[in-house]
Amino acid sequence: MAEIKIENVVKKFGNFTAVDNANLTVADKEFVVLLGPSGCGKTTLLRTVAGLGMADGGRITIGGRDVTYLPPRERQISMVFQSYAIFPHMKVYDNIAFGLRMTKVPKKETDRRVRESAEMMHIENLLDRYPSKMSGGQRQRVAVARALAMQAKVLLMDEPLSNLDALLRLEMRAELKRLLNDIDATTIYVTHDQIEALSMGDRIAVMKNGVIQQIDHPTIVYDRPSNQFVGGFIGNPPMNFMSGNVQRDGGNVRVVVGETALTPAPVLQSLLGNQTDVIVGIRAENMETLREPSPETIPVDVHVVEPLGSQNLLTVKIGNDFVKVATHPDFRVSADDRVYLRFPSDKIRWIERDSGKVIYG
Ligand code: ATP
Repeated sequence: MAEIKIENVVKKFGNFTAVDNANLTVADKEFVVLLGPSGCGKTTLLRTVAGLGMADGGRITIGGRDVTYLPPRERQISMVFQSYAIFPHMKVYDNIAFGLRMTKVPKKETDRRVRESAEMMHIENLLDRYPSKMSGGQRQRVAVARALAMQAKVLLMDEPLSNLDALLRLEMRAELKRLLNDIDATTIYVTHDQIEALSMGDRIAVMKNGVIQQIDHPTIVYDRPSNQFVGGFIGNPPMNFMSGNVQRDGGNVRVVVGETALTPAPVLQSLLGNQTDVIVGIRAENMETLREPSPETIPVDVHVVEPLGSQNLLTVKIGNDFVKVATHPDFRVSADDRVYLRFPSDKIRWIERDSGKVIYG
C-alpha cells in the first residue's frame, strides 16, 4: 500500500506562505494531478512530499509511514522534476541504469528495465548518446525513463512533458497515462496545463495562491467547479461569467442578465438572501443558440465568429460581459447577426459575487 497523505502542510519562504494548510490524500495506485497557474505552489508542495524541502507545519505519510522529516532517499519515491538532473558525462543507457545499479538490481534485470522504459519513452535508439548531444525534449524523456525504471511505488512528476513539442506531447500524454495505469504506482503529477490535467488525472487538485481550491474527478472539476477561479481556470474556453442583478418584487425574485429576467429556483432564492448581485456561470457548450426569440431567451448580437472545425465559437456581448458560445459547425451566422440564447437551468452555476463561491448549481 502506498497511499500518500498530506495533512495540514504548510511551507514558507521567509514571511511568504507558498503552501497554506494543504490537505490531500492520494489513494494507493491513484494518479492525482496538481494543477494551477504559475507560482501557485504546486512545485513547492511536490518538493515537500519528495523531501527536497521540509514542511514548516503539518504531516506527510507514505504507506502509513510518517516521512515528514525524512530525507528524500528514505521516502521510497521516484521523481522527475522540471530541472531534470541527468548526468551529462553518462550515456543515456547509464543515466537510466544509474539508480538501479545504486540499489544493486542484478545486471540482467537492469538491462531489461532500461530497455523497456527507454522504449516506453521512444528513446530506445538514443541509448548510446550523451545528453549534451540531445534536444531538451529528448533529455526530458530520459529523466522520465530513469524514474520509470526504478519501479517505485510512488512517483512524483513535475511538468514531465513541458519540453516536448505539441504533437509529441499529445502522444506522450496518452502513453504516459496508459503506462502509469499499468505500473500501479501512486502518482502526483504537477502541471499548469489544464487539458493535460483533465485528460490524465484520476483526480485533480486545483491550487491558487498556495491554497488547494478543489479536489475532484476531472469531469466534476470541469462541470461543477467549487468557485469562480476553478471554473475560469479550467476549460478552453473557460467558463463564462455574467453579472446578474437580483430584483425583488413582493415575493417574486428575478435575476436580470443583460435584458432578460431569469427565474431562480426557490432554493436559490433563499440562498440569495438580501444580495443584489450574483454571478451567473455557464460553459460555452451548454447554451442553446436559436435564430428566433422564445420565452426566457436572451437576445444577443454576434460580435465574432470563429469556425473551429468541430464547432463554431461565437463571441457575443451580454450586458458588459463578452460570452463565448459554442454552436454546431452547421449553424451559420455572421458578425452582427442577432441570435437568442437559452440557458438550461441545470447548466447554470450561481456564484456569490463577493466570495466567488458557487452557491447553487
Ligand atoms: P510554476 O508552474 O511556475 O513552476 P508553481 O505553482 O510550481 O509554479 P512554486 O514554484 O511552487 O510555484 O512557487 C510558489 C511560490 O513560492 C512562488 O511565488 C515562488 O516565487 C515562491 N518560491 C518558490 N521557491 C522559493 C524559494 N526557494 N525562495 C523563495 N520563494 C520561493
